[in-house]
Amino acid sequence: MPELPEVEIAARRLSEALARAEVESALSPGMVALKTFDPPLSELVGMGIEGVRRIGKMFVVDFGSLSMLIHLMSAGRLQVFDKRATPRDRSSRILIRLGDGRELRLREFGTKQRAWAKLMAPDAVAEDEMVATLGPEAWPAPSLDVLASAIAEPRHLHPLLRDQRRIAGIGRSWVDEILWRARISPFRKGSELDEDEIARLHEALAVLGEVIEHYEAVVGPEIPNKLPMPLQVHRREGEPCPRCGTTIEAVYFAEHQTNYCPAEQTGGRVLKDRRLSRLLK
Ligand SMILES: [Zn+2]
Repeated sequence: MPELPEVEIAARRLSEALARAEVESALSPGMVALKTFDPPLSELVGMGIEGVRRIGKMFVVDFGSLSMLIHLMSAGRLQVFDKRATPRDRSSRILIRLGDGRELRLREFGTKQRAWAKLMAPDAVAEDEMVATLGPEAWPAPSLDVLASAIAEPRHLHPLLRDQRRIAGIGRSWVDEILWRARISPFRKGSELDEDEIARLHEALAVLGEVIEHYEAVVGPEIPNKLPMPLQVHRREGEPCPRCGTTIEAVYFAEHQTNYCPAEQTGGRVLKDRRLSRLLK
């Protein structure tokens, strides 16, 4: 799932590509992708695109008197194409056809339809439940105090930092990088952190801004299907820690994994991998 840096760079590139484009027609071939029915998509006809921005891990496409809030979920993509999708393209969820022949397309891959869009008045965006319930944005980093109160919960940092209601924008990839940079275990609890650890975590959020700068340098006008994510520890189990050389370890969950440096994050302890020990029995 694209996280804050990936959505931010895509929003910037889309905004540049779509500036002043006019909507010729709009369709929602993905029957369940559009979660709102009033106003209808046809209201967009004739409107100009004013810009694309990011809130948390969501996109907002501003059309002047209407805005579209979009969540890609795990397999969605929002891209501009020079040609229109054919009716046979099963990945199409929402098609915004532009007067110049191009098309802004919300696509989704795989069998599940989870990506969604909502069309609403611009001032309704902040009140939408998915926006109103978000915690402070992880980038630019909130103040130290705001971060400290956002994560003051007796839950492991790995799920806590990915909880969009506590802090917005972090997912499964960047949480590992942030915790590695802060030298804190993914299994420490938010409410157990001392002042020094909170300060390190706060400082580590800077990785998100650095990643955006990296994307600014390497991503051209078109967003590639796979962004070159500069990950140092996530999904790098078995490789040496770039900082201390210790072998990066992993803990696997049903649908995701967390990676960490045992020497620097867990006091040398290698956390038990339940999946692996089950396989070895
Ligand atoms: Zn290390």
